[in-house]
This record gives sequence, structure tokens and C-alpha cells, in this order.
Amino acid sequence: MLIFIKMSKDSEKTVVSRIGSIEVICGPMFSGKTEELLRRLRRATYANQRIAIFKPVIDVRYSELNIVSHDSNFYPSLMISKASDILKNKGTSQIVALDEAQFFDDLLPEILENLAQEGIRVIVSGLDMDYIGKPFGPMPELLALADNVSKLTAICLVCGAEATHTFRKTKGNQRIMIGAKDLYEPRCRKCFYEIK
Ligand code: ZN
Repeated sequence: MLIFIKMSKDSEKTVVSRIGSIEVICGPMFSGKTEELLRRLRRATYANQRIAIFKPVIDVRYSELNIVSHDSNFYPSLMISKASDILKNKGTSQIVALDEAQFFDDLLPEILENLAQEGIRVIVSGLDMDYIGKPFGPMPELLALADNVSKLTAICLVCGAEATHTFRKTKGNQRIMIGAKDLYEPRCRKCFYEIK
């Protein structure tokens, strides 16, 4: 966001001050988080903003973000293994975007807060809850620090209500199991807890 501040009555000199922010897009799987991230990034390209996109290396699924990264306004979407890699790779980006942020380490919130204080617009997309309904990784802290939160819903595959949870269809207690519709389905709170 660009804000023009009038310095004094004596001079009509203006300075440009860029105010950073943190936007969080969260919700269960299949709620359109990545699409919403993409929509915001596309809009930013119309304003010729420099954008860096990061994904955790843990998620090697094909990403729609790579389509966008072909645009000349974008840096390529980069797979990184830890949050501090953002600082090494962001270049002079005005926007830093992260997909699947729940997989990043605990340093992520502090790093993103510092970027926002430097004037960078940070847009984060991620699962707010894991497969047992617990807050996921650094997401709770990011939600607290955010200027703006979009909590999206999917459709419960059991009853058709709005889904806020991600139900895992297979057994096993690993927190991270990479998969899509083969492994997970969106459910409302009631169906998530009551139907196994
Ligand atoms: Zn339901």
C-alpha cells in the first residue's frame, strides 16, 4: 500500500512510505486457499509489484503457483526447507507470499512480522488445523499477528454443510501425510468428530 504523507505546510514535499502487513488465508483442505492467494497475487502484478513466492519443500505436489510464476512480474515459486530461507531469497520483493505455511518451523511468525515492519506485504496461505482438529504449526501465531484473516470453508462431504475441518480417511497418527482427495476430505465440525 502506498501512502503519501504531507510533511509540513511550508513545503509541498511529500514522502512515500510503504506500510507492510500480514494477510492470512486459512481453512481446511479444498476450501480454495491457494486460489485466493493467486487472486491476490494476480491483482498485485497489475500494479507491477515485485513478488516472491515460497513453498515448503515437504509439499512436492504440483502447484498452481508455478503457473503464475511464469509471469514476468513474478520470481519463481521457490521450495525452501526452513523459514529463514525466505530472508536469503526474497530479493527486493515488495510482496512475500507463502503457500502451505503450516509446514514451516516456529521461526516463521517472527520472520514475517519483521518483514511486515520493513514495509513488505506478506500473504500467507495455510491449514489452520491438522487432521485431528488441532492448531497447525506456526498458523495460530500468524493468525494472531495478522492484519487481515480470511477463514475459508469447504463443503462437508458427509452432510453438505460448511466444512471447517480436514478429515483424514486413513489410519495412522503421523501429523504430516501428503495427499489430496485420496487421503482427506472436508467436513463440518459435527461430522468431523462424530463420524469415523
Ligand atoms: Zn457435515
